Amino acid sequence: MKEKILETLKKYWGYTSFREFQEEAINSILEENDTLTILPTGGGKSLCFQLPALLTDGLAVVVSPLIALMKDQVDGLKESGINAECLNSSQGIKEQKLISLKIEAGVVKLLYISPERLVTDSMRALLKKIKVSFFVIDEAHCISHWGHDFRREYRELRLIKEEFPGIGVHAFTATATKEVREDIIKQLKLKDPHVYLGRVDRKNLTYRITKRVKDGMKQITAVLDKYKDEAGIIYCLKRADVEAVSARLAFKGIKNLPYHAGLPDAVRKANQDEFSKGKVNIIVATIAFGMGIDRSNIRFVIHAAMPKSVEHYQQETGRAGRDGLPSECVMLYSYADFRLLEWMLEQGGADAGGASKEKLDALFDFCQTPVCRHAFLTKYFGQEYSGESCGACDCCLGEAAEGGAEEGQGDDSARNIVDCILATDEKFGADHISNILAGEFSEGVSKWKHQELPYYGVLGSMGKGAVRGAIERMIKQGLLERGGAYRSLSVTSS
Ligand code: ADP
Ligand code: ZN
Repeated sequence: MKEKILETLKKYWGYTSFREFQEEAINSILEENDTLTILPTGGGKSLCFQLPALLTDGLAVVVSPLIALMKDQVDGLKESGINAECLNSSQGIKEQKLISLKIEAGVVKLLYISPERLVTDSMRALLKKIKVSFFVIDEAHCISHWGHDFRREYRELRLIKEEFPGIGVHAFTATATKEVREDIIKQLKLKDPHVYLGRVDRKNLTYRITKRVKDGMKQITAVLDKYKDEAGIIYCLKRADVEAVSARLAFKGIKNLPYHAGLPDAVRKANQDEFSKGKVNIIVATIAFGMGIDRSNIRFVIHAAMPKSVEHYQQETGRAGRDGLPSECVMLYSYADFRLLEWMLEQGGADAGGASKEKLDALFDFCQTPVCRHAFLTKYFGQEYSGESCGACDCCLGEAAEGGAEEGQGDDSARNIVDCILATDEKFGADHISNILAGEFSEGVSKWKHQELPYYGVLGSMGKGAVRGAIERMIKQGLLERGGAYRSLSVTSS
């Protein structure tokens, strides 16, 4: 079999060797074990299921979240001479009928469909008529509430194991914390799955995270200057920011295209194509951009504002350097971003794309804590990090010095924070405590008459953002705890 596998790899893909865990995942699929494979973006997940589809009898069914991406994948496969199809609502009735006939006739090896399509009666009936070789769940983290991209339709996929017992189910994703991994296995009812956990650390990426100065344009153009004629993505928080940054770069003579959900479909698609095909090098986008971008030579990803979570950050920065060459990820953040994201969460309700207050706090903590970025990310995703200095992040390169003003005041501000929390009976959250200490008059402060406390404004010179940051650090250090329905702060015994 091993020879057959290598032969197929060479014949259809032109490669002569495997990347980490590809061979294991392929073997697991061929041996009909259930499988959960976690490989970083660009790690080569598709090949892990496309190759075994060619070596098994029957049709491999690939569940994928985005209709827009299916066509590209299928076109690519067809070009390599592989019999792949997709079925989705963007096709006409006639075309769908024809594809169904092909499936019944047994000439299709790989079928891409959306989760909502898979669970329809007609689709299930069709699949029961033919031989299905195995099921693939791509972007499997979408099934989990704990993930950052929860999709309700994915929950229905538990049907697969109920209705097609004995057929292998193989889940793939790029980022999955321990909770998400366990949830995927539970939700899909995987049976004693083989789990392959690729290294999450992207060694070829250099991370730099720094406070945004004003609108950040100077910092952004400084990065662009370093990478003349190379490809990069600039992520913004809002559509209006995308428009503004894009226009200002154009004004400076820097060619770029915008991308956000508010643009007409045709324009959005055209802009994505131009970027993917290398006709334009810089795209300014909201996080709507990126899924399935098949450009491997992206040299930098700039976050002009904070992303929503560490998971989002990992995924978005993961689009840089898929070719393995050194690439740079720069994030500009501010306390205002944090507040805006917090507000958006409150407006969006509980599962705003899998984001949550806890995840946002973790990200803010990541921004502010001067520890090795590679080490932090690796540990966040549940893996051990060995080695002292990565040599590829602002902290290890000794660049992350700006926290200075806050550090100098360290002890004093910590004491004031603790005293203020105790003086208000440990009943209030980080936001309110920061308001008091920074002397920001708010509705809450007014309601409780906290402007009369001796702590009101004692840390005014730090500014509210820095006080808030100091509180988050103290939580991290185990000096403070957050809990209860109101997420109020309390002082720990340490
Ligand atoms: P993922 O889905 O994990 O993000 P892809 O499947 O899109 O990654 O693969 C990323 C790139 O790596 C593709 O261009 C693919 O052809 C290439 N690739 C995959 N496997 C190998 C391999 N064994 N050797 C060389 N290149 C590979
Ligand atoms: Zn480091």
